[in-house]
Amino acid sequence: MAAQACATHADRVAIYQCDGCAKPLCADCVQASHALFLCRLCGERAIPLGGVGPATVKEHAKRQRLSRRYTLAQAFFYPFRGFGLYMFLGTLVSMAIVEFAVRFGIGCFPFLLAIAFWSLMVGLQFKIVDTTAEGGDELPDWPNYLSIGERIPDVLAYVGIAVLQFAPMAAYFFLVGPQQLLTDDPSLLYWIGFSTFGWLGSAMALVALGAAGRFGPGAALRVDLHLRAFVAAGREALVIANLVFVLGITVWVVRLALRAVPLAGAAVAGTLGAYWIFTSAHLAGLLVRRNAVVFEELYD
Ligand SMILES: [Zn+2]
Ligand SMILES: [Zn+2]
Repeated sequence: MAAQACATHADRVAIYQCDGCAKPLCADCVQASHALFLCRLCGERAIPLGGVGPATVKEHAKRQRLSRRYTLAQAFFYPFRGFGLYMFLGTLVSMAIVEFAVRFGIGCFPFLLAIAFWSLMVGLQFKIVDTTAEGGDELPDWPNYLSIGERIPDVLAYVGIAVLQFAPMAAYFFLVGPQQLLTDDPSLLYWIGFSTFGWLGSAMALVALGAAGRFGPGAALRVDLHLRAFVAAGREALVIANLVFVLGITVWVVRLALRAVPLAGAAVAGTLGAYWIFTSAHLAGLLVRRNAVVFEELYD
């Protein structure tokens, strides 16, 4: 179809056509209403031509968000940005309360509280993936507290992702035997093998989290699709997988080192844990956002 010129601006390509006066309209000749774009000439609805222009104001806002430049370095400030910072602080306080209740509480109530809280955290991670894939750069609000129908599949998918995360390491232990790790001095080769398999699990879990968060819990265990998505995303998948792996190891090592420090150590360890949870989910969402075509073709 040949490009049509705007009825008012002959030098501009029309990307809408008015549903009322039927005139071709450029981006300047439509105005955003509450939800739709309207013709500036007669006020009727402007329909996007050939699927080029955004059909709704929401779609327009999404495109704007997606076209904004956003680097991987910026992703590391994700939990502290804008309104998300309050979510991050609120999560830390909730984590402390749950931890305190489990440690000093009596009866089974604290454990029910912990289960409820952590299943919500799982839902929040999937929501982070989804809102990130949609172009969001700030922490979203909590998922619906009472939606048990959503929480259970989410938690099952999360368990599946955890299995993918640790399966390669378990296979390594099975192949090489765990003895080496129990001796004082495992060889360098052993550590290289260990980190390679650890990296594989981390990369697989990254893609699985991205897929499940974006396309629903059912996508979590599609290892075949995860592999294809990883290969198709190429260098980008490699870079993000490396970032998530190094971030995970750093947080794990620091948390281990902080075990000896009472209270302050626990506070820093908790903060780092929450930071890791949010940032790795955001990076998984970014992988999907930057490779939207690949992911949609495979999982949708
Ligand atoms: Zn019109
Ligand atoms: Zn125009």
